[in-house]
Amino acid sequence: MGIADQSSLAETVFPDPSVSALPDRQSPRTAGLLRGGHAVTDAVIRGENFEQTFAVVARRDAGNRTFQVTAPATADRRTAQDFLERFLPNAGRHYSENRNFDFGPDDRSNVSVLSPYVRHRMLLESELLQAVLREHPYGDAQKFIDEVFWRTYFKGWLEHHPGVWTHYVAGVSRAVRQLNEDQPACDRYNEAVSARTGIDCFDAWVDELTSTGYLHNHARMWFASIWVYTLKLPWQLGADFFLRNLLDGDPASNTLGWRWVCGLHTRGKTYLARVSNITNFSNYRFNPRGQLATSAPPLSEDTTAQPMPLRTADVEPRGRFGLLLTEEDCAPEQSLLQGTPEAVLGLSAVRDRSILPVSPVVFEFSVAAVADGVQRAAAHWGAEGECADDSDWAETLLAWCRRHELNQVVTAWAPVGPVAARLDAVEDRLAKNDIKLFRLRRDYDEQAWPHAAKGYFKLKRQVPELLAALGIDTGVDKPLRRTG
Ligand SMILES: Cc1cc2nc3c(=O)[nH]c(=O)nc-3n(C[C@H](O)[C@H](O)[C@H](O)COP(=O)(O)OP(=O)(O)OC[C@H]3O[C@@H](n4cnc5c(N)ncnc54)[C@H](O)[C@@H]3O)c2cc1C
Repeated sequence: MGIADQSSLAETVFPDPSVSALPDRQSPRTAGLLRGGHAVTDAVIRGENFEQTFAVVARRDAGNRTFQVTAPATADRRTAQDFLERFLPNAGRHYSENRNFDFGPDDRSNVSVLSPYVRHRMLLESELLQAVLREHPYGDAQKFIDEVFWRTYFKGWLEHHPGVWTHYVAGVSRAVRQLNEDQPACDRYNEAVSARTGIDCFDAWVDELTSTGYLHNHARMWFASIWVYTLKLPWQLGADFFLRNLLDGDPASNTLGWRWVCGLHTRGKTYLARVSNITNFSNYRFNPRGQLATSAPPLSEDTTAQPMPLRTADVEPRGRFGLLLTEEDCAPEQSLLQGTPEAVLGLSAVRDRSILPVSPVVFEFSVAAVADGVQRAAAHWGAEGECADDSDWAETLLAWCRRHELNQVVTAWAPVGPVAARLDAVEDRLAKNDIKLFRLRRDYDEQAWPHAAKGYFKLKRQVPELLAALGIDTGVDKPLRRTG
């Protein structure tokens, strides 16, 4: 059975209430960006004349509560930089002492909430590290640095194990099919995704996730553990629900985060959500006494992932080229290229995150992130910039190349996931039309990923050398620094 079949089947069985309660997937704001069918739109953007109109604001009534998207409200780099500046004073000791507390959606002062920007590379990991180390001594900033490198590790690890993603994607389809044949499990799924389990903390996280597109790291761990061990639902469907609803939804961090919880990443080591831990770290907002599973046996699977060598990236070509910008790297003007592109095209594969519908909040954020990237890139290089519909990348790219008389297209490396799959699919079509696609990897990934083939601590040991190699000053020799 093909994915299209499964998708329609899935939609009949899962009228996923969390998603359908939200506004239409193509709001007037994004519809403006996406008009033009699968061809390149006529909304050509010329550098500084671009209108920035893609603020994401969503409201939703959930029972008697109304949520408003406040945390990362706008998908643009300037907002991301403001968020970073505001968070910096807390990124040192304050972060390391308080980051595990989930104080709730109204108080996120102890964590950065920068992940939607980092995931779309509107802010680069190297920029985060540099900024934090400018503000805090290395020792105080270490916890925050560790967390940024967890992201790097997961991305690098999945590059070494691309089959784990393919296996997960197939697992979602299989789990959908199986759920269709298992009414009690189907009911449990629908209760879970519509915040009707009766487990207060879990239902509140579902509301928060589907309304804001964000969850605290600790809540993600508790959520995943309850999903698998208390609600006894397939982990793949939980990961899929996250990927469709998180603004920072990321094939690597998400898939591997879920696999870590159920003992598939660090084999045999699982995460059990405990009542006392939830009560304490939710700051006494929740107390799910008597409602949670009390053991978390590791799941098993029939394949064992063996690390593969990293795929080789391309070198930037000489001569004329166009720049393809995707949601994997929305800040190409920040030292991705040596040369100057003739034109910039923005494409998004956000719908490919799942065979089920992606939340409109996520869709709009991701499309707006690409539009913001195109606007900046176009202004930076004085090139013509435009965004196009996501339906047929090959046709869109061919039409764009013809219009600009291009036979070379450069794009930032897309790690394993939907964008990489789209690029793989179009590369041959382009080649048949004498157009070559070049995928450039940033120095940060090039330096770090080779250390991410196995466990995290192998990469962690390399962090000081990596920072030095990237020219990031750790300030360990400088005695006078502000503390957090
Ligand atoms: C089941 C599960 C699913 C997850 N899914 C995603 C996902 O789809 N996308 C995603 O970006 N993160 C994911 N994470 C990791 C983590 O929860 C988020 O990155 C973090 O909560 C983002 O919030 P923040 O920006 O306030 O983080 P901060 O605590 O401020 O951390 C700073 C940055 O470090 C990175 N980071 C922090 N913690 C982690 C972590 N545990 N793993 C990887 N990177 C981390 C993020 O880029 C983050 O922006 C998942 C974790 C779990 C347990």
